Amino acid sequence: MSFCCGASMIGALGSLRHYKTQIHNVPILYCPVCNRIDVHSDISEEYELLSEYAHEDFAPEVDFRDFVSNETMKQVFENCISIDNGNISAVLHSQIDNALDLLAVAKQLEDRDWESTLKHRLKKLSRRLKRLEAQTKRTH
Ligand SMILES: [Zn+2]
Repeated sequence: MSFCCGASMIGALGSLRHYKTQIHNVPILYCPVCNRIDVHSDISEEYELLSEYAHEDFAPEVDFRDFVSNETMKQVFENCISIDNGNISAVLHSQIDNALDLLAVAKQLEDRDWESTLKHRLKKLSRRLKRLEAQTKRTH
């Protein structure tokens, strides 16, 4: 499990750009607070190989899934907290709940720094949740 900004990063399949090549379905981890995106460490070598190869080949787009086995794709997300398959709002809700719990503790301890870190995290998480819910409404 990976953490960034104190919130657990979310596993997802994303499209990444390498020079002029768009690489689809790359296993990534992203932070819902600061939007940092990491290529999943289990497949980072494969990702580098594929992106170099596609770049040299002038391929405008490639699909990462064509390059690794289904088994690999399945294993990659086994140690992640969640995979972004439409239940992201549930994940965000639980991250907000966690942060609220911690905030109560921080207040009790009168730890002002921690408190403001948590408030910042809550603001980001709830903004992301709102945006997500607005998107969901539009598409349904
Ligand atoms: Zn972060």
